[in-house]
Amino acid sequence: MEKTLAIIKPDAVERNLIGKILDRIESNEFRIAAMKRTRLTLPVVEGFYNVHKDRHFFKDLTASMCTGPVVLMVMARDNAIPEWRKLMGATNPKDADAGTIRKDFAIDIGKNSVHGSDSAENAAFEISYFFSQTEIQE
Ligand code: GDP
Repeated sequence: MEKTLAIIKPDAVERNLIGKILDRIESNEFRIAAMKRTRLTLPVVEGFYNVHKDRHFFKDLTASMCTGPVVLMVMARDNAIPEWRKLMGATNPKDADAGTIRKDFAIDIGKNSVHGSDSAENAAFEISYFFSQTEIQE
């Protein structure tokens, strides 16, 4: 089983969408191997999104991730990384396919409700950034 890091972003937590998003996740064969609800600080988010530090949207992105609590999850299933990205939908909800989380719940590209690792290398980094091995139980 592959593992990926998922985040329910502040815009979705604020609108009480945790349960609806978890339902999509569990209905699509993912096991939630670790989960916590927390509020991220700016330095923590800047470290997490370090790969994007030179992008024009870095300041908006990091600020928006600190506007309220988030839910952090390690999720496991076959092909978890691409399967979670498929279930999330395109980064910009305007481009997202019908039936995806971003199509159904996101507000705009900055408030797009969920995060998912985009490669095995990034998933390993992102999981270890937020969780210790003993917290992860498939
Ligand atoms: P993802 O893997 O689909 O989340 O997309 P990226 O890794 O490319 O970008 C990370 C996050 O930055 C996205 O989920 C968006 O919330 C945000 N983002 C990306 N592009 C833009 C943009 O052009 N404007 C703004 N405001 N946010 C963006």
